[in-house]
Amino acid sequence: MDMKIVKIETAELDSPLITPFKTAERTAYSISNIVVRITSDTGETGFGEAPPTAVITGDTKGSIRCAVEEFIAPALIGMEIQDIDGISRKLRQAVVRNSSPRAAVDMAVYDLWAKSLNRPLYELLGGHADRIETDITISVNPVEEMVADSLKAVKRGFTCLKIKVGKGGMEDVERIAAIRQAVGQNIRLRVDANQGWDVKTALKIIRKLEEKDLDIDLIEQPVPAMDLDGMKQCTAQSTIPILADESVFTPQDAIRVLEERAADIINIKLMKTGGIYEALKIISIAETYGIPCMIGQMLEGKIATAAAAHLGAAKGVCTRADLDGPSLCSKDLYEGGPVFDGPVIQLTQAPGLGISGVPCFPKE
Ligand code: MG
Repeated sequence: MDMKIVKIETAELDSPLITPFKTAERTAYSISNIVVRITSDTGETGFGEAPPTAVITGDTKGSIRCAVEEFIAPALIGMEIQDIDGISRKLRQAVVRNSSPRAAVDMAVYDLWAKSLNRPLYELLGGHADRIETDITISVNPVEEMVADSLKAVKRGFTCLKIKVGKGGMEDVERIAAIRQAVGQNIRLRVDANQGWDVKTALKIIRKLEEKDLDIDLIEQPVPAMDLDGMKQCTAQSTIPILADESVFTPQDAIRVLEERAADIINIKLMKTGGIYEALKIISIAETYGIPCMIGQMLEGKIATAAAAHLGAAKGVCTRADLDGPSLCSKDLYEGGPVFDGPVIQLTQAPGLGISGVPCFPKE
């Protein structure tokens, strides 16, 4: 069905978390999102969403809303939704950097596009699978608290934990060892330092983790994003795969990291790439270089998580997922969308992202 974009609006939506989310970079008590709604001339709506993750992307609530309303909306109104290529070009020209507002609009466009074709989005993006399994985050805290949180997550059915570290230097090894001992051998453990170590500390910690034989699935962003040489040293000297997160925002970053052999895996987040269109480029690059991807996210709501899950499920190269935002919230404020069942994110056959309503945009 032909559709033209006639309206692009924003609103705020806050989802309270079950427990505070703590990393080496920040502490958050709720997931606050800017929700984007795009309306077509046929009256159909597409939803997108972006959280203000200022410490990583630089985007704040105000900057997201301003970028969408004052710069992106005027550029896209009147465009045909079928022209994904043209819309993406306009989106990249309307605001540079500011990846979160671009991501929110991009996913709303893809939602609307898939709805115009009456298909769930994952089928149109590659159709590899209709589900994906996520890990769950264990925030950085005193070790007893992290062990207790890990056991709670396992009790909820999660089989893979992403342990946030990077604040304690060599003490981080004890955190990880204590969790491994508590959860046993059948649970996968991922370690995310969120840029919290320097190279020397990172190499020492990696050696210790190897010596203790803690069976770690991957180590994420051990050193600062800009320290590609440090990432390269870790990748060369570690038998545990190294995952680049903050080091890779754009397709250009991905090429540089892979050319330099500065990571074994790339963490793709829509909030870094500026949406699905650019994320697809990184996926193609990863396929070309023969390395896998993780499909990840910031602390994001159900719409943004749905967009990432559709993309990750569609593409076989996305062998890992870190899409636990909705699982960390105390209630589900959205209508429709994927079904979260422990680690399994089951996509439905509903067209687009499958989200049918959000409380910040009451139905007309
Ligand atoms: Mg990370």
